[in-house]
Amino acid sequence: MNTVYESFKTLVNPEGYQFESVNCYQCGQDDCEVFLIGEEDLTGKEGQFQYVNCNNCGLKYHNPRIHLNQIKEFYDSEYIAHRKKTDWGLLTPLYERAMNKHDREKNKLITKYVSLNNDSRVLDVGCAVGTFLTYLKKKHQCFISGVDFKKDLNYPGFEDIDFHCGLFYEQDSLDESSYDLITMWHFLEHCYSPTKSLVKAHTLLNKNGKLIIEVPRLDSLSYKIYGRKWPGIQAPQHTVMFDKKNLISMIENAGYEIEEYLPYGAFPAYFYLFAGLWFKVYGKGLNLDKIMMPYFMGQLMLMPILLFEKKINLAMQTVICRKK
Ligand SMILES: [Zn+2]
Repeated sequence: MNTVYESFKTLVNPEGYQFESVNCYQCGQDDCEVFLIGEEDLTGKEGQFQYVNCNNCGLKYHNPRIHLNQIKEFYDSEYIAHRKKTDWGLLTPLYERAMNKHDREKNKLITKYVSLNNDSRVLDVGCAVGTFLTYLKKKHQCFISGVDFKKDLNYPGFEDIDFHCGLFYEQDSLDESSYDLITMWHFLEHCYSPTKSLVKAHTLLNKNGKLIIEVPRLDSLSYKIYGRKWPGIQAPQHTVMFDKKNLISMIENAGYEIEEYLPYGAFPAYFYLFAGLWFKVYGKGLNLDKIMMPYFMGQLMLMPILLFEKKINLAMQTVICRKK
């Protein structure tokens, strides 16, 4: 344990960053060793962030972690999920197509496991600007609720969402045992208490309700290729890096049974292949305006490999689960 703090002391961070040590999110122990040092590759902000491996259960997590009060600064306007579509200038149509495709892929995935209609209630945790929810409403006329900790989310259609602002596990205005479907698309790995969030979702699901979780997959090909430049690290926003084993056991320990595990997700694994290469070659900072064109060109070139995405552990994982 001491080596973890010795190592942490050597990290270079701007003045004012506050860190707090945290026990393992999975087993509660504080016996860990340094796993890797991550950086804020996405926006290029300063800082070095330590990820540790729990010697007891093997979970990899950010420790000491940046204080919750300071994490919001890392979700600035450059952060892709919160960026408004209208910001893209000439490339807006391509970007919109990609974003709409993402919502379509999510819908395709969930409708394999739940059938939605105008009686259904869906909650999206970490809903960002809410395009997935408004897509669902249009498609299935279901009742849509969303939670996110960002407040400045004025986006067309957003007013249709029963929106709750703040940390998910602290919400007390959501109806218990009422949801047919709860989705967590790339939420759990950002959460400051993933176990609490899983338990919270458990209380909100109705008897036959399902929880669908997508997170980056640590034991994947893209991590093997990029190592500490793997986009799934996304330091310091990501508090946890899940491999298949840790993800499943955390979900099961929160009172769920697994209906199905998928070695892919709705999020394009290609984004990780592209971003990882960009970080390796150009270093930190993904200027979204600059990458847009090479991004779409590369996607075209890699199409033959991407067709096999669902067969290989490229980058993502999804779990469909229900209450035990
Ligand atoms: Zn542990």
